[in-house]
Amino acid sequence: MVRVIAINGTERARTVDEHRAEVIELLGTRPTIELPLADCTGLVLAEDVRAGVSLPPFDNSAMDGYAVRSVDVVEAGPERPVELPVTEDIPAGRTDLPALLPGTAHRIMTGAPLPTGADTVVMVERTDGGTETVRVHEAAPPGAHIRRTGEDVAAGSVALAAGTVLGPAQLGLASAVGLDRLTVHEPPRVLVVSTGTELVLPPAELRHGQIYESNSVMLVAALRAMGCRVESLRSVADDVDAFRAAIEPKLADSDLVVTSGGVSAGAYEVVKDALTGAGVRFAKVAMQPGGPQGCGRWNGVPVVTLPGNPVSVLVSFEAFLRPALLSALGHSDVERRRVRARLTETLTSPRGKRQFRRGYYTQREGQVTGVVGPRGGPGSHLLAAFTQANCLIVLPEDVAEAEEGSEVDVLLL
Ligand code: AMP
Ligand code: MG
Repeated sequence: MVRVIAINGTERARTVDEHRAEVIELLGTRPTIELPLADCTGLVLAEDVRAGVSLPPFDNSAMDGYAVRSVDVVEAGPERPVELPVTEDIPAGRTDLPALLPGTAHRIMTGAPLPTGADTVVMVERTDGGTETVRVHEAAPPGAHIRRTGEDVAAGSVALAAGTVLGPAQLGLASAVGLDRLTVHEPPRVLVVSTGTELVLPPAELRHGQIYESNSVMLVAALRAMGCRVESLRSVADDVDAFRAAIEPKLADSDLVVTSGGVSAGAYEVVKDALTGAGVRFAKVAMQPGGPQGCGRWNGVPVVTLPGNPVSVLVSFEAFLRPALLSALGHSDVERRRVRARLTETLTSPRGKRQFRRGYYTQREGQVTGVVGPRGGPGSHLLAAFTQANCLIVLPEDVAEAEEGSEVDVLLL
């Protein structure tokens, strides 16, 4: 656990890295589960997968053409075609084992098993395409257009190693070696809770003082994209009893609770009021946006409490929840790609805090370093600007101003 050190009786703000380490530790590593391939997309393989069969499982033709003995067509040329009787037709999927006799040809299709006795395949384009007899216009060296047993994967070898992220190619290979299920780290069931008496769900009409709820929509989208199963409570009033009553019945079916709002320094901070002393600790993190944060366990269930402003929510997700979830799901790389870029304008940042500004990064051809410009100001309510951003500009704690033309760190989203 990362400790918050008390200085002169007041808790100092914890660093982004300290809070992140605590959230990563809180989420731990997810247990493993066997899932159908179709449900494994984006998940991480939890154990090595050994191939039950070789790939290819048998010598087969890489072309539509004719399986022959190379010695029988060695004299073939454009002027002097060699004519052979076609004694078998072998489409893909034929499962018996016809043997090729010397001086004959078998018509063969791509992926069909090579008959014993044949040592080469002549492409149909190098013949007259005959079905009774075939005229071969070109010699074929031994082994031409043959895919050999096991040249892709040897039976018994590790086809996919534990830790592999399962994308289309990896899932395809799993099926190709005969599997219909894989053991992965199970995605958590996440309960997303938006707090705020002011929150209204579209399409209801707004009254003065009310706003449409948006945090849960962002969190659900971000969590689903990572494979999580998500349920949301979209407008829990700023009332401790109402908050507890809404969430407590769902705790048993949740692996993680993520709340937004109700954690800063004002009155009516419902999340803070309900969970202080119940296993969740609240702290100020030295960052902008997203200062007020909390995490811990409520009745044993991990809880991460995010601030209420929409931009703070997304930045907090990037800074804490995304790496913690990736780590819990078994990913070894939990970082966004970080690049250096030259600022198109001067930015200021509060000293002592790590600032995450929304930005747009471009790299022109031939450029070593890209350029980045801010989208919107530092305000944590400026959600529209976030929609135009493709990165976060990171201004470190010791930077108060970053001048136009200087190089900064950029996290690509
Ligand atoms: P809070 O941290 O609860 O004081 O909220 C900070 C700001 O974020 C306030 O302006 C809230 O109205 C706004 N806010 C809180 N939750 C949401 C939400 N779920 N959707 C949109 N805005 C929100
Ligand atoms: Mg609130």
